[in-house]
Amino acid sequence: MSRTSNLRPDMARLWATLARSAEIGATPRGGLRRLALSQEDGEMRRQFQDWCEAAGCTVAIDAVGNMVALRPGREANGKAVLVGSHLDTQIKGGRFDGILGVLAGLEIIRTLNDHNIETRLPIAVVNWTNEEGARFEPPMIGSAVFTGAKSAQFAWDRTDKDGITLGAALEEIGFKGDAVIGPQSYDSLFELHIEQGPRLDDQKIQLGIVTGAFGVRGFVVEVLGETGHVGPTPMPQRRNALVGAAHVTLAVEEIGWLLHPTGGKSTTMRLKAEPNLLGILPDRVEMTCDMRHPSEEVVQAHLQMFLDRIPELEEKSRCRIAVRESWTYGGISFDAGCTALTRQAAQDLGYSHQDMLTEAGHDAMHVAHAVPTAMIFTPCEGGLSHNEAENVTLADIEPGVNVLLRAVLARAG
Ligand SMILES: [Zn+2]
Repeated sequence: MSRTSNLRPDMARLWATLARSAEIGATPRGGLRRLALSQEDGEMRRQFQDWCEAAGCTVAIDAVGNMVALRPGREANGKAVLVGSHLDTQIKGGRFDGILGVLAGLEIIRTLNDHNIETRLPIAVVNWTNEEGARFEPPMIGSAVFTGAKSAQFAWDRTDKDGITLGAALEEIGFKGDAVIGPQSYDSLFELHIEQGPRLDDQKIQLGIVTGAFGVRGFVVEVLGETGHVGPTPMPQRRNALVGAAHVTLAVEEIGWLLHPTGGKSTTMRLKAEPNLLGILPDRVEMTCDMRHPSEEVVQAHLQMFLDRIPELEEKSRCRIAVRESWTYGGISFDAGCTALTRQAAQDLGYSHQDMLTEAGHDAMHVAHAVPTAMIFTPCEGGLSHNEAENVTLADIEPGVNVLLRAVLARAG
């Protein structure tokens, strides 16, 4: 039996670390509001850096604020095994979404230190910048810059609702670094995350082995009508952009119900009306929609179905309707080798587990394009997430943290 086969993380220490994180940006209703690059995010980042340095790691920060804490390995120039997720939250977020994955990575390093265990490859804990996209859009921007899918300049130029750029916010909290953090230095990534859905909790399954991700299509629809007085303008003469938006919303919802039997969904998630004032018919609405399905082909076919319905929606609403912007992500499989390590660890430790796809977006989905990647899901109470009441117990997360430790050790040697 090897020295590491009985190795266990210190769950009480991890729980206390999570509790400290839960104080930074705490909301009155027990959640967190720690928007990317806010003062609270800055405070959490400094706390994380202090913890990592106290554990003997060197912390590197890149141009967009991605933080990587490195614990060296025996191979001086070995590529590091990355472990981590994100420390930012939604506007009314929970205490575990993303945070668990980062702080579990820190706990792995602390555990290895406790037992004086040296690994062949270095191990590094990562905190990706702006995963949530609640302040700066798009979400998962730090990991997109890491892979080269987006440039640092693109990230710096994003603005929040007050017109503050991501670049200025980084400088404000002192997290615009000059380290080069890219795929060439990393062997693999393991991301532990709460499921954010009810499947594991409902079935009382301890772990999700995430084999890949749903195919996602996002798109912005512009509806153009004409302004007019809401009183005198006769009904037949109106071209109310909000009526067009209502028809679009219902069409998107109908497609959601068509996707539902095979596990898909479709959502209208945002709407901006102009001029959005009393007494005047709105002449422009911009709305953002999203379709997700386990199969890339199916999600693509249903997006086409929506596009084909546009002439009918235009006729019903007397508005002009067009898709102005669209994006695609997900529809990927995680690395078979890394995933097998997580599944093997779950089996060896006797935990109930199930293969599943992630329906939510995660940094791991960007990173998987550049570095072998695996994800592990841990149950969360009622599947509730992006909500202040998001909750897990120590018993819920213990299997996930143990499997993470084992899989990372197996990979790092
Ligand atoms: Zn997350």
